[in-house]
Amino acid sequence: MDCLFCRIIAGQIPATKVFENERIVAFNDIAPAAPMHVLIVPREHIATTGHLEPRHDTLIGEMQRAAADLAAARGYAERGFRTIFNCNADAGQTVFHVHLHVLAGRKLAWPPG
Ligand code: AMP
Ligand code: ZN
Repeated sequence: MDCLFCRIIAGQIPATKVFENERIVAFNDIAPAAPMHVLIVPREHIATTGHLEPRHDTLIGEMQRAAADLAAARGYAERGFRTIFNCNADAGQTVFHVHLHVLAGRKLAWPPG
């Protein structure tokens, strides 16, 4: 298994997990870009959002809803939070296992860099 996030999911590499269920796992980003920076990943290995199939539609919805729930649990529902999927080089994707960034706790610039 040469995928970093598959190894985190399997417990072979340590991470601070903040939520998990049968389909998804959420853990703190090792290099947080905001006071809250969580990554939500599917247990299924999917390389990029360009590889999503119709059967993944519910999964992606669940990831987005988990992001809102985690942000709300930390008191960021009103202030706001940002969810991001980076896909491939121009977006800066470095780990090729689909992951949803959840950022909150500071004013986030727009447009992004
Ligand atoms: P991306 O650039 O969208 O592919 O995001 C990959 C993210 O994974 C970056 O924000 C990294 O800081 C994060 N990351 C890399 N290695 C680890 C790790 N071992 N545990 C937690 N997060 C990691
Ligand atoms: Zn993987």
